[in-house]
Amino acid sequence: MDETLLMIPGPTRVAPRVLKAMSENIVNHRSAIFGQILKDTSQMMSDVFRTTNKSYLLTGSGTAAMEAAMVNILKKGDKVLNVVGGKFGQRFMQIVEAHGGTSLPLEVEWGQAVNPDEVGFLLEEHEDIKAVTVVHNETSTGVVNPIKELGKILRDHDTLYVVDTVSSLAGDDVEVDDYGIDICVTGSQKCMAAPPGMASITLSNDAWDVVNRTDSASYYLNLKKYKKSGDADPPETPYTPSVSLIYAMHEALKIIMDEGLKNRINRHKLAAKATRNGVKALGLELFPEEEVSSTTVTAVRMPEGVTDGEFRGTMRNKYRVELAGGQDHLKGNIFRIGHMGNITHRELITTFSAMEMTLRELGFDIQMGEGVAAVADTYLPEDV
Ligand SMILES: *Cc1c(COP(=O)(O)O)cnc(C)c1O
Repeated sequence: MDETLLMIPGPTRVAPRVLKAMSENIVNHRSAIFGQILKDTSQMMSDVFRTTNKSYLLTGSGTAAMEAAMVNILKKGDKVLNVVGGKFGQRFMQIVEAHGGTSLPLEVEWGQAVNPDEVGFLLEEHEDIKAVTVVHNETSTGVVNPIKELGKILRDHDTLYVVDTVSSLAGDDVEVDDYGIDICVTGSQKCMAAPPGMASITLSNDAWDVVNRTDSASYYLNLKKYKKSGDADPPETPYTPSVSLIYAMHEALKIIMDEGLKNRINRHKLAAKATRNGVKALGLELFPEEEVSSTTVTAVRMPEGVTDGEFRGTMRNKYRVELAGGQDHLKGNIFRIGHMGNITHRELITTFSAMEMTLRELGFDIQMGEGVAAVADTYLPEDV
């Protein structure tokens, strides 16, 4: 297979150990042996979510978990405050509307983070807000939202706190219990470095109270069924899960545990810092302010005088490094470097070297090696 280096915000590079786990024999999904794998996988998911509540696995991509979060708590006309500062914030809003809810969007300029006080003001103004949704790491803009601070504000309100951590869990600080998050969702193919196709969700007792009082408008994503099967001993899923993908998740989570969650998050923070330093050294401009810049994906303004096709096309076709483009109105205006999952200095040095060659070829007057040196310097200990 083509060995293009994936430097995109998902899917990310998958370790050979994980790929190998997927090729294990398929077993009966209603057996003790599979029950044990499911139990361990769910337990490790809860450990990564940093919650004492149970986590459930859904066969589907991250969006399935986003939809499950909404469809199980909403009745027609229920009001949800959606923080919308990019593509994924918008998606939560569209899911609410698709299920007959009323979205109250809090629009945040793309490239900026939400101001938690604004959420507080809206909650004072509207007493009937059933839930607040926020995307922790807005992958489309490379912005990280202040979910800890938001949690402090939401603590004083009778509303469910729903957080999308699809592109941050296992790559940035997420403390579900500590931040008071009621529903947290994630996907397999971002920082967890598993193949695409699985999602996970965890709910607080307050969230379960609402779920238990609500008729789910979805049959497949009815969380009451996941809870009933998942809490059995041995646990099961209500319908046939993707057995092979659960093997993969199990192995990817074991890798996370081996590395240590804290170490892994620090590795992501260092990769983000090295990337920003490399970008600046090449005279390129970061899209979001550095203070709100993501730990897992860096968005960069496309330099004047080059098209997205020329830049990312050369990177991909000639140097075999895949970067992500912008979405919607940011298409052609930014590019994004994903550094989630297994990314280390090795991949970043290759990426920056390829970026330097590409930019030079496209006529930019840059000093070869400056981006690479800035990356390397970030990784070197201070006393070297
Ligand atoms: C990738 C992503 C999703 C889910 O996308 P899928 O394609 O359904 O896996 C949701 N939210 C964020 C922030 C993401 O980065």
